[in-house]
Amino acid sequence: MGNETKYIFVTGGVLSSLGKGLASASIGALLESRGLSVTIQKLDPYINVDPGTMNPFEHGEVFVTDDGTETDLDLGHYERFTHAKLGKDNNYTTGKIYYSVITKEREGKYLGGTVQVIPHITDEIKDSIRKVSTGVDVVIVEIGGTIGDIESLPFLEAIRQFHNDAGKNNVIHIHLTLVPYIKTAGEVKTKPTQHSVKELRSIGIQPDILLCRTDHLLSPEIKKKIAMFCNVDTDAVITAKDVDCIYECPLSFHEEGLDNKIEKLLNIWSRAPRLEAWKTLCHNLKTPDFEVTIAIVGKYVNLTESYKSLNEALTHGGIPNQCRVNLKFVDSETITSETCKVRLQGVDGILVPGGFGSRGIDGKIISAKYARENKIPYFGICLGMQIAVMEFARHVAGLEQANSTEFDPDTPHPVIDLLEKWIDDKSGTIQRRDLHSDKGGTMRLGAYPCVLEKESLVAKAYGTDTISERHRHRYEFNNAYLETLKAAGMTISGIAPSGDLVEIVELPDHPWFLGCQFHPEFKSRPMTPHPLFRSFIAATLEYSGYRKIVKGEDS
Ligand code: GLN
Repeated sequence: MGNETKYIFVTGGVLSSLGKGLASASIGALLESRGLSVTIQKLDPYINVDPGTMNPFEHGEVFVTDDGTETDLDLGHYERFTHAKLGKDNNYTTGKIYYSVITKEREGKYLGGTVQVIPHITDEIKDSIRKVSTGVDVVIVEIGGTIGDIESLPFLEAIRQFHNDAGKNNVIHIHLTLVPYIKTAGEVKTKPTQHSVKELRSIGIQPDILLCRTDHLLSPEIKKKIAMFCNVDTDAVITAKDVDCIYECPLSFHEEGLDNKIEKLLNIWSRAPRLEAWKTLCHNLKTPDFEVTIAIVGKYVNLTESYKSLNEALTHGGIPNQCRVNLKFVDSETITSETCKVRLQGVDGILVPGGFGSRGIDGKIISAKYARENKIPYFGICLGMQIAVMEFARHVAGLEQANSTEFDPDTPHPVIDLLEKWIDDKSGTIQRRDLHSDKGGTMRLGAYPCVLEKESLVAKAYGTDTISERHRHRYEFNNAYLETLKAAGMTISGIAPSGDLVEIVELPDHPWFLGCQFHPEFKSRPMTPHPLFRSFIAATLEYSGYRKIVKGEDS
């Protein structure tokens, strides 16, 4: 294609949770399958500068990129579906935009001027879009929220202007709506879509393509009707049918002609799509031989959105093992020494994920103990690693009240502690923090290198001796207890090269007991499952005695 960057803006109508993030990621995957390079950006209308300080109950997982940006969970979809390299410029919020404009105002950059939403805020938004445009054929920009929300107006105005700035042939708008099936009427209804498009047009944006989320295939007549009322081509009305597995979305969109239509509208010439890898992936996911059940012992178990990347990484880990991974979310507050056996009955592996705050900590420690004593595969991620260390210190190393200072600042044995001074491997500088540091963006964040102990479980799983993984935590393993815990039988199998940060712990006399201070789930991809998840699922499969799925019963 030519050298002009093309832009696709994705908006959503009618209601939230229609899968705009997945749709944007799938569009990216389809364009990549045609040999185009893409990047994807999310513009979020809320005022938090980033989602790092938001409650996962409300907002879902905080996804972390290599450069240490705390981002919206949709960036996780983008990374899992495409090869786009994402970082701080791929997620802007209203807060981040205003922060920048207000900082410039204080610095005197607008001296003499009245700073306003139009043009200052909208210009800042347009600049943020341009920032991710270099070196890619297509930029996909997803606008968070639903059309009609007050908060998203400056973003919509900015993309309306952007359309004119970048030239009509270089920009399209894709609008995701809902076409519900009404049982009593026995038909699908197009009115919500009509209204949503009307709303969009009232602010000057005419959608070029409509993705209609529905559980029924849309007939040619319905497509014609939507096209006529919404002023789009009939072949631009795409059925976004519910799918069994999210990785089917690119294939289902392709069957509906979405990538062809995008290329036509944007005047792009590319090769035919190569979708074999996606087809194989979906086939493998749908036809496993075995199954295992993993207990995820956590706090946000009622909202699986809080563990989005983790759930996906576990599924990915099952693929090379021909294994379906069933997830059993267990609220750690319901686990006591008495209930533990019943709550964790029948599971083939126990995973304690990342988390903050003291709620449910005891239940997590009991679960780690149960896994250690009964030789059930245990995977501790971030807080889950800290839990494993606390449990081992208390019950094996004899440090009865061992704790993290996050939960007990006065513990006599702070095996996990706030490191007030540490060397940052990325910048080589000394970093400092204490209990009074800002809460936003001040954790150890993003990719850090780690050297693996030869012959350890991790070294075998990765097949290499140096790795890079993403972090998001404040507390660390306290080196004052290193020798005591080693002497009691814990292996330290991963260390930050600066030599003073413990990254991975293992128990050698256990089939698979591992805790890592980083979040491996952020780097797992369906086509390249993460080595630790692949190895963990292999261990749970072995523990299960290779339980076969009874054919005909698999869903
Ligand atoms: N609360 C712990 C810390 O801040 C663990 C964080 C996490 O699990 N992401 O270190």
